[in-house]
Amino acid sequence: MADDIDWDSLTFSMTPTDFMYMTTIQGDEPWKPGQIIPFGPIQMSPAAGVLNYGQGLFEGMKVFRTSKERIVFFRPEENARRMQRGADRLKIPPVPESIFIDAVEQVVSANQKFIPPVGRGAMYVRPLLMGSGPVLGVAPAPSYTFLVYVTPVGPYFKGGVQAIELLISDVHHRAAPGGSGGVKAIGNYAPGMKPSKEAKAQGFAEIIYLDAKTHTYIEEVGAANYFCIKDNVLYTPELTGTILPGITRDSTIQLARSMGYTVIETKVSVEFALAADEAFCCGTAAVISPIGSITHGDVKSVYGDGTPGSVTQLLYTELTNIQKELSEDPFSWLHELPSHV
Ligand SMILES: *Cc1c(COP(=O)(O)O)cnc(C)c1O
Repeated sequence: MADDIDWDSLTFSMTPTDFMYMTTIQGDEPWKPGQIIPFGPIQMSPAAGVLNYGQGLFEGMKVFRTSKERIVFFRPEENARRMQRGADRLKIPPVPESIFIDAVEQVVSANQKFIPPVGRGAMYVRPLLMGSGPVLGVAPAPSYTFLVYVTPVGPYFKGGVQAIELLISDVHHRAAPGGSGGVKAIGNYAPGMKPSKEAKAQGFAEIIYLDAKTHTYIEEVGAANYFCIKDNVLYTPELTGTILPGITRDSTIQLARSMGYTVIETKVSVEFALAADEAFCCGTAAVISPIGSITHGDVKSVYGDGTPGSVTQLLYTELTNIQKELSEDPFSWLHELPSHV
């Protein structure tokens, strides 16, 4: 482990590491394995497709040191497949799963000393896939780059899990039917920055987005998926194309069902959500974040006494215990870093 890193001061922010991975192809030629190179700035034409028209995707996953002294990825194959679906949507040649997995293994292996000790954070792995070649007319770029970098991150909640206060937006939407909201297109995120900043200035942690068509159903919480619990049944918005299929969302559904809960994927109206017993949002960065209250216009609905709900707590503990190998991994979600990469 790196001697000069103060693990306890890590937050979810960028700490440079030593190496990154990069490979580039021309046009439709097949992807070929890339190289590990020093971490640092890359060269790109000012006319690159990604810079001009946002033809790019990102992914995010975590790597942990576990209580069994192993180094494990959490479900990286799912990130590889989601990036392939995104590539198809943005007319980018999809990176084969074998190259994706080999790439993330190589970068993590080269930067092993930056993986935090067990329980003190994770290594966040950020793959990027983009149109890197020059293009002036609106069209797919002539060449593509697949790049992976990593950074150590601290636990999202310092000093225990805390419930967050959210604001429903009546003005902004994250995704529209037929658009790119169902894939991790880089261009999906910039339009959320202003609403999110404004909500934060008013004391909220994030914005809740409603569906763009009817303004009645909850879609997502910033860049995280939404769940609520009513009479011990879990409800989460169904994947209709405007919701990003989170891997934490899928893991939460499987885990809750294995624990005996009923999970219903359906349209979740604001009215229903505000009357629920508990709510949380989930994603790779924060895992599971309990929601303490939701404000809509002049109405503030508080869940329970505003502290994390018991089902939420249980799911958080179980999911993070699997990641740390403090619990069994019955779903085979952990992917060990091979020793030979
Ligand atoms: C990445 C992301 C999520 C969460 O996905 P995970 O795979 O669980 O990290 C949810 N919503 C949006 C918009 C996202 O970009």
